[in-house]
Amino acid sequence: MAESGSITDESLLLPDVVTSDCEEFLNRYGPFDDLPDTIKDEYSADQTCLRNSQSAFHNVLCQESLLSEGYCTQQLAAQHSQYNGLSMVPPPIPTATSEMPSTDEYPGPHNFEIEVDSKFAGRNLMYSSSLNKLFITVNRVMYMGFRCTSVASDVYVRALLIYSEAQHFKEPVVRCVFHKVPKHDLNKDVDIELIEYVLHADHSKAIYDKDVRSGRHSVRVALDRLQAGAEWVTVPYRFMCKSSCDGGMNRRLTEVIFTLESERGDVLGRRKMKVRICSCPKRDKDKEEADAANNENQTVSGGKRKLAPHPDPRNEQVTKRKCEGFLQQIFLTKEDFLDATVLAEARLKRRLCDENRNPSEEEKILLKKYENDLKH
Ligand SMILES: [Zn+2]
Repeated sequence: MAESGSITDESLLLPDVVTSDCEEFLNRYGPFDDLPDTIKDEYSADQTCLRNSQSAFHNVLCQESLLSEGYCTQQLAAQHSQYNGLSMVPPPIPTATSEMPSTDEYPGPHNFEIEVDSKFAGRNLMYSSSLNKLFITVNRVMYMGFRCTSVASDVYVRALLIYSEAQHFKEPVVRCVFHKVPKHDLNKDVDIELIEYVLHADHSKAIYDKDVRSGRHSVRVALDRLQAGAEWVTVPYRFMCKSSCDGGMNRRLTEVIFTLESERGDVLGRRKMKVRICSCPKRDKDKEEADAANNENQTVSGGKRKLAPHPDPRNEQVTKRKCEGFLQQIFLTKEDFLDATVLAEARLKRRLCDENRNPSEEEKILLKKYENDLKH
């Protein structure tokens, strides 16, 4: 991604017409030290004005560049007031919400970890550790625990809901037409500006970002310090649409990417969790776990099929009865039976001869039987 730093070279920002005016001034009036005081003052004022113009021009270009790169509009507005000084350089553009965000697990330098707080698991919220998947009803609060080793400055956790299947991956996840109607019961306490966000953080310091280039919505929360005796820093979240919502997620598979980020938006760690927002978390969890176990039984690592199980003895008996019935139908006369016996005996003897070996015990019994049959 292009960094805004690429346009900080001031030579690029110096308007040519102003530069040539200064040079002409110096050429015309000679060295600066020899100039009369009145002209010196005028020239200094021009230079100050020129520097201010450069800075202002630089700032405008930086802001335009950020917008063209898709920097979050809400962040930019906040930043504008925060970084109003001409010498302040805006933070770099975060990549965690780009069109193709990474989904690789990354503990990072601070060993970032996440955990669903199971204390609140119940009928409306279930977590499957074998599937790494959360099953939750709409608008139900989920308490998510975060942990990382100590960091020198403030860090944030960003939660981004994405489609996990390749064919929908690039599409941002937004609420369905039905649920984003402002008068819907679910939206009683929802800020109108956040009406499209599926994932909300019930946190007073939550910052909602929209990446204007990718269209992705995400929510960031400054991670508090660990409380005494606690292992996790907890942040509550809610999902405001179902996975099955028509005109929204439309039964597509989703997962949440949690990124640990610096104030500048640098990713310091990444974790992910599949999520299904549904009406019956227990039923769906049990079914998906059973399906996964069934699939695992049929496959071994590398995707190869396991060997077929041992045949059921009852099936062997059925097969034997079928063979006996078949033989009774074939051997209608004694001559037919003798012909078949001669043929079978000849074939077995030829095989022994070809393979240059003595008959096995089983084959000896068979040869004896052929012999007896042919005698009678
Ligand atoms: Zn919906």
